[in-house]
Amino acid sequence: LQKLFINNEWCKSSSGRKMAVLNPATGECICEVEEGNAEDVDKAVSCARRAFQLGSLWRRMDASDRGLLLNRLADLVERDRLLLATMESVNSGKLFLMAYFVDLMASIKTLRYYAGWADKIQGKTIPVDGEYFTFTRHEPVGVCGQIIPWNFPLMMLVWKIAPALCCGNTVVLKPAEQTPLTALHMAKLILEAGFPPGVVNVVPGYGPTAGHAIAHHMDIDKVAFTGSTEVGKLVQKAAGKSNLKRVTLELGGKNPNIVFADADLEHAVQEAHHGLFFNQGQCCLAGSRVFVEEPIYDEFVRLSVEKALKRVLGNPLLANVDQGPQIDRKQYDKILELIESGRREGARLECGGVPWGQKGLYIQPTVFSEVTDDMRIAKEEIFGPVQLILKFKSMEEVIQRANHSQYGLAAGVFTTDINKALTVSSAMQTGTVWVNCYNAVSVQAPFGGFKMSGSGRELGEYCLQDYTEVKTVTVKIPQKNS
Ligand code: ADP
Repeated sequence: LQKLFINNEWCKSSSGRKMAVLNPATGECICEVEEGNAEDVDKAVSCARRAFQLGSLWRRMDASDRGLLLNRLADLVERDRLLLATMESVNSGKLFLMAYFVDLMASIKTLRYYAGWADKIQGKTIPVDGEYFTFTRHEPVGVCGQIIPWNFPLMMLVWKIAPALCCGNTVVLKPAEQTPLTALHMAKLILEAGFPPGVVNVVPGYGPTAGHAIAHHMDIDKVAFTGSTEVGKLVQKAAGKSNLKRVTLELGGKNPNIVFADADLEHAVQEAHHGLFFNQGQCCLAGSRVFVEEPIYDEFVRLSVEKALKRVLGNPLLANVDQGPQIDRKQYDKILELIESGRREGARLECGGVPWGQKGLYIQPTVFSEVTDDMRIAKEEIFGPVQLILKFKSMEEVIQRANHSQYGLAAGVFTTDINKALTVSSAMQTGTVWVNCYNAVSVQAPFGGFKMSGSGRELGEYCLQDYTEVKTVTVKIPQKNS
């Protein structure tokens, strides 16, 4: 299970190199995994291409049977739920209970949801000139390169492979270099479920080598990427430089969460807290800019700090722990540097702001108040346990400030006034708006970003558009001369 998975076989990397997989809670090496590079990606792509050829087992398969395979995979994930959740926790530092209940539940649901779609992806017949009969076919795009991040390793893999496979594509997937373990276990389950060889290939490796090769490949038809905006730009550029492969991107966010004075205060504080600190703050969805209306500002800050101080840090496998370590040294250093910049630029550090513990990459839950829009912490994605609370006076003002960002992933609004809720939700330049809730993602509903948060949509029916090509077929009807 520490090898590359290509054509339903486990193989060594062509370079002979391996990469160390670390436990971020302890810094210890869990194991070594074969490190795939451009040559391995090539090999995986040619197997995925062969599996996609017309007449192949996969292309001839009854659409319902593709659904059956996805359901069988869901059954196997359920069977191995404990193992997968443990692996995910040890490799990524996320809380075991969150992995078990949130990530695994979402993964199983996503597999079953797209299993259901497999035999319901239909074209149309279209009325045209009476001499012709015209219909559309929604065909799979082809070989899909999929590059995923480390914050939700298993869930991101499933979000990527399930829609791709239900539409009949084949896949070459690269997990993040930090977190290849659950992806390799999933490869084992894909084999066990009975997918034909070459339909799914998993090539662990680094971004600038294996990831770069996927983005630039001339025989990959589509690339789906989740990660930083910086790398997202490289992926889109690579498509332009190579074969204009289709590109979908799920990138960063600097999401506003707006709390009006008429909101249920306790509830808003709790949701804003969870909306930021969930998964150690390592979420593109993190509600990191909390805008609070002036009359309740001081009380909101006080209650938020109280909550942050109650968080228990420690071993993410333990049930009483609320917060695990950050994923790696690079992210950890970046978070601490941004905290420092917030202090320097005059935000008020209410709590935290420093590392925690003897070993592992822990950062104390941090809350800043008196944050202004021009500070770096209010503009840049922090991806850590750092909550920023900003003050606003009017709805017009907060709408303008909330939208003043290069990102447009999600927004939250807390109010008991239906007019405010509707005004704000129609004004937000974001792919998702939550009213009186936060982080409420459902597999049935589309997820994605406006502006520099990405392009395309994952989840729901909308995602199918990004994994199919529409073909128009027009047939001449022989005309009888009357
Ligand atoms: P983060 O900074 O949060 O680690 P990245 O965007 O760097 O996010 O990583 C997300 C995914 O993109 C990972 O699988 C990583 O290996 C990959 N990646 C990084 N650099 C590149 C690149 N130049 N080309 C393609 N993929 C890359």
